[in-house]
Amino acid sequence: VRGFVHLEVLIETQILLPRWIIPVEPARVTLVEHALVIEESRIAALLPMTEARIRYPTAAEVSLPEHVLIPGLVNLHCHAAMVLMRGLSDDTPLMTWLNDHIWPAEAKHVDAEFVHDGTLLAMAEMLSAGITTVNDMYWYPSSGGRAALRAGMRAALSINIIEFPSRYAANVDEYFAKGLAARSEFAGEPLLGFTLGPHAPYTISDATFRRVVTLAEELDVPIHTHLHETQAEIEGSLKEHRVRPLERLANLGVVSPRLISVHSVHMDASEIDYCARNGVHVAHCPTSNLKLASGIAPIAAMQKAGINVGIGTDGAASNNRLDMMAETRLATLLAKCTAGDPTVMAAHEAIAAATINGARALGWADRIGSLLPGKDADLTAVRLDDLSVQPLYQPASHLINAAGRAQVSDVWIRGRRVVESHQVLTVDRQEVLAKARYWQARLAG
Ligand SMILES: [Zn+2]
Repeated sequence: VRGFVHLEVLIETQILLPRWIIPVEPARVTLVEHALVIEESRIAALLPMTEARIRYPTAAEVSLPEHVLIPGLVNLHCHAAMVLMRGLSDDTPLMTWLNDHIWPAEAKHVDAEFVHDGTLLAMAEMLSAGITTVNDMYWYPSSGGRAALRAGMRAALSINIIEFPSRYAANVDEYFAKGLAARSEFAGEPLLGFTLGPHAPYTISDATFRRVVTLAEELDVPIHTHLHETQAEIEGSLKEHRVRPLERLANLGVVSPRLISVHSVHMDASEIDYCARNGVHVAHCPTSNLKLASGIAPIAAMQKAGINVGIGTDGAASNNRLDMMAETRLATLLAKCTAGDPTVMAAHEAIAAATINGARALGWADRIGSLLPGKDADLTAVRLDDLSVQPLYQPASHLINAAGRAQVSDVWIRGRRVVESHQVLTVDRQEVLAKARYWQARLAG
């Protein structure tokens, strides 16, 4: 019996042999002639190829001769199911977009089935783009969680709170109760975690924010909220509360290392300093901010101050891609230009923003975000033999500046291969396509 168990473990051992490995930790390193060993769900070793073959003689070899292997990308802010509203309403300002288009469509159509189908479609897109973790904020987290488990994708789901009633919940008490029920449903599930997701300062009362803080401490989870997205949000807060949103949230105890501040477009120097001193994490979503003309977040200044900045796509209704490679490239270009300094957010730093920084914000840096042995094997292989990435001096530079999501070829999550040679193995393409067309007909009708 013992021998059999041992054999089973050996069968599950895989040696990945990519041309290059960018482990992210240690920082700014590109390894060649190295192998990454997966045992069950974990990274067992990262070592020279010759040594790997000696130490693991019976392991299955996975040849990746033209590929760079990186940690799976972490999408630090998304509303996955909103992919079903992709392209439904473009070219409008945030409040018009929300009030006249998104919120009415949500009130009419969004239910448990919509969220399941939309999340599955979004996850198929994200997996094929090398994204292994998503920090998601949406209604019906139970449906989102079921979709994530089908897709085999890692997700932080939100206990979603907003002050007004919806089809999902009639009042604040019900939002909390339903979110907590979803959290209990998935307790012990290694791919899923939870955050508290109060929507934004302009949709959440002081009393509810206080309740969020208490519960976040009790559950030991992050607080995921939109903050300082538009100038109008700040003016509204000054009018209603006599302070800017960040100061109001600070007074309510929200500003702490638990806080994932999404957008943070309009932050002055003292606010950046305050966030840095209080360990706030920022989820930077540059495409959404540009598309809704909200502005450009000063992330070079934030990083200089010591703020941990991760990258998010936001929902596909305001992006309209769930593409972390494109998002990260845009982030670097904007950071360089707004700082007036081309040395800002160099390639390795950008890869870190798209991986370990997101993991840190979620409190998951001990499990994912880099290729340190002992962490879960969440991995993305990008094929770099296309003519568009020739010649090739530095793989890190090409990952950020020249390659795209179409070159993502293989993805593993907790050691399970979920994408192989550009094919998503866990999601049935025909099923998802049929569901997308079904919802399109309903929303357009
Ligand atoms: Zn958002």
